[in-house]
Amino acid sequence: MNEFSALGLSQPVVDAIAALGFERPTSIQSQAIPKLLHDDTDFIGLAQTGTGKTAAFGLPLVEMADASVPETQALILAPTRELCLQISRELAQFGQYQKGLRILPVYGGADIGKQIRELKKGIHILAATPGRLRDLMRRGAVDISKVQYVVLDEADEMLNMGFKEEIDEILQKTPESKLTWLFSATMPEEVRRISNQYMVKPFELSVGQPNTGNEDIDHQYVAVRPKDRYDALRRFLDYDSDVYGLVFCRTRRDAGELAEQLTRDGYRTDALHGDLSQAQRDRVMERFRSRHIRILIATDVAARGIDVDNITHVFHYNIPEDLNFYTHRSGRTGRIGRKGISLILAHPKDLALIRRLEKRLKTQFSPVEIPSGQEIFEKRLLGFFRRIKKAEGHEAIRPMLPQLMEELEGLSREELIHRLASMTMSRGMKTHLNGKELNAKNKASRSSTKGVELFINIGNMDVEGKAGFLSLICNQSGIPGSAVGKISLNEKHTFFYMEEEAAEKVIRAFDGKEYQGRELRVNSSQPKTGKKKMKKKAFKKGKKKYQGARG
Ligand code: AMP
Repeated sequence: MNEFSALGLSQPVVDAIAALGFERPTSIQSQAIPKLLHDDTDFIGLAQTGTGKTAAFGLPLVEMADASVPETQALILAPTRELCLQISRELAQFGQYQKGLRILPVYGGADIGKQIRELKKGIHILAATPGRLRDLMRRGAVDISKVQYVVLDEADEMLNMGFKEEIDEILQKTPESKLTWLFSATMPEEVRRISNQYMVKPFELSVGQPNTGNEDIDHQYVAVRPKDRYDALRRFLDYDSDVYGLVFCRTRRDAGELAEQLTRDGYRTDALHGDLSQAQRDRVMERFRSRHIRILIATDVAARGIDVDNITHVFHYNIPEDLNFYTHRSGRTGRIGRKGISLILAHPKDLALIRRLEKRLKTQFSPVEIPSGQEIFEKRLLGFFRRIKKAEGHEAIRPMLPQLMEELEGLSREELIHRLASMTMSRGMKTHLNGKELNAKNKASRSSTKGVELFINIGNMDVEGKAGFLSLICNQSGIPGSAVGKISLNEKHTFFYMEEEAAEKVIRAFDGKEYQGRELRVNSSQPKTGKKKMKKKAFKKGKKKYQGARG
């Protein structure tokens, strides 16, 4: 028996799934579908996009909708137009063999008159953004008084976007007896509150840990000075010839400028941000999906609901302002069992934020090095020669071979290869050959958190602020102030970062010495618990060489 029919789905739906090429259910599908089909229960699914969550609720909805009853039986609320469209597209495919089943997406920014006309035809399953649906309800264009199922998809995103009020108003107009299924990538308080308010003993399912990252995503970061960030990004883009990626920026202006700069440098790229009209956004997305664009630059808001398969890399041109965005950004890769890289181009000051992310996602970020220009140059050249090895000779050239060989007579194999290699050197490759070292130096500058972290039992009670602390340390040990990095001053003790060599001088100057009647202790700060120790080690261990996309 097909694995999908074993979940309780009927033949027309199973056939539709087969037509889509889904071979076996994903984890959330195999757990949720039987539950949703057979138990009359509210449901919470903690799952990110890319886990197959749309089908997890969509298949049961399509299965249970009755096309012969002219009523809206299921309502799906989703944060963005993109997502509404995707959901309705996907559900229409699941229901392709069910005669007369009508599914409609309604969302803001589009002609409301047209949507009203569509609604009049009678819709069984409605996918809507909350704002537009409320609008339609107020105009009396939609009747949700008979819905049996309400799905809140990407609930966290809907609340992030400020749709709480609309959701409240909408849910109040749905019947008491309906079942509510909520999906969310993260479970902040506000989502909990919604579920407490509207759901009865929901069955909870989480694929992966709540608030954690997806195992198929390799989380990496690299410390790079702001002035080198653009060149660093280019190195990563050039390292893998088949990067199909997203680059996140914080502001539309940054996104626009970055796309422009990359385009000028010959990349197939475009920007997706809030300044674009809907038609322009659609065009950009279409070009990305069809791979005319290989690098899409996006802001967090504009990228909501983007669902594109096979994205190999998500680059964070800046660490997101709101760390919750990180999960949404990185979840665009590593989908349906494929591996992906999520790489933060971090300001050297951002290390503490990365630690917070590690804690939150219960995962480790690997520090990587920016590939050197020489490395990329060599990789590209080798790639070219490997392609030669695999290439098939064109028939049309065969008759010319004797003449061509004669043309190059006298050239040795070595000379021939050398000249061929030289001729394939593109402008970009030459640039890499002269590329400078971009990895931020292992030096504890004032802003850097690199080097070693020291603990000393001198604190606010002994010195006048950070400046006082710094001058005490420098005067006593003879090190320059520039060797000291971040200082965290507490009442009785201080943690501070140092260049490794200077740290030894500080330890010699202070450790065991007497200061204001007490013995001083200076040591390399040790985390207290075993778990922490492990994490710390991960940060201290050397940066790993960037390996590019995994298989
Ligand atoms: P979602 O998590 O719902 O955004 O789904 C991510 C992508 O995976 C969509 O493009 C789906 O069409 C696809 N998908 C969902 N379920 C499966 C499955 N069982 N096998 C293969 N692909 C799937």
